[in-house]
Amino acid sequence: MTGPTVRIAALHPSCTVLGPGRRFVVWVQGCPLNCRDCVSPQWIPARGGRVVPVAELADRIIAEAADGLTLSGGEPFAQADALVRLVETVRRRRDLSVLSYSGYTIEHLRRHGTPDQHRLLDRLDLLIDGPYRPDRHADLLWRGSDNQRIHRLTDRHADLPGAAGPGAGLQFEVGADGSLRWMGVPPVPGFRRRLEQAMGSP
Ligand code: SF4
Repeated sequence: MTGPTVRIAALHPSCTVLGPGRRFVVWVQGCPLNCRDCVSPQWIPARGGRVVPVAELADRIIAEAADGLTLSGGEPFAQADALVRLVETVRRRRDLSVLSYSGYTIEHLRRHGTPDQHRLLDRLDLLIDGPYRPDRHADLLWRGSDNQRIHRLTDRHADLPGAAGPGAGLQFEVGADGSLRWMGVPPVPGFRRRLEQAMGSP
C-alpha cells in the first residue's frame, strides 16, 4: 500500500441524519478517550477496522456525489494527519462541506492540540464536540447529549436550523443478508444494547 492511509471502522455513502443534507460518513477506528459509556465501544481499540489508502477513499467519496463528508468514529482527531490529507484530496476535486465529531472540546483542541489537529480544525465547516454522555442525554440536532455543541467554523452553513432544534432521527437499513444497520445518535440511553436484545443478538 503506497501513500497515506487511514484506519476506518465503517463507511456509508448516503446518510441523512449526521449533518446537513446527504453525507458520506467515515467512521474511523480507534479512540484514546475510552469513555465508559461509549455508544460504539467496538471502535475504541486503535487496532482493528481496516486500513485504506486515502487516495482510494477520496475517489469513493467523490464518486458518491454526496452533499458533504462527515467524520465520526472512534476519534477523528486521533488520525488528524490522514484526515487532513483526505479532506484536501477530496476538495481538490469538489468543494464538499466537511463536518467532524470529536470527543475533545474545541477549547482543548485549540489549546492543547497538535499541529495536525489544528490543521484538521482549520479545514472543517462544522465541529460537534464532546463525548456522548448518557447522564446528559437529550434529543438534539445531530447530538445525543447536551454537553455536545455544534460549532460553525465557516459561513457555509449559516442557514442551519438552531442548535437547539430537535434530533434528526435514525436511519435504518436492511442488508442483502437480512442484517439490520442503524445510523444516527441514540434516541435513549443504552439504545444499542436494547436494540440488540430486541433482535436477539448475543
Ligand atoms: S469520545 Fe466518543 S467515540 Fe471516544 S470513547 Fe468517548 S464516546 Fe466513544
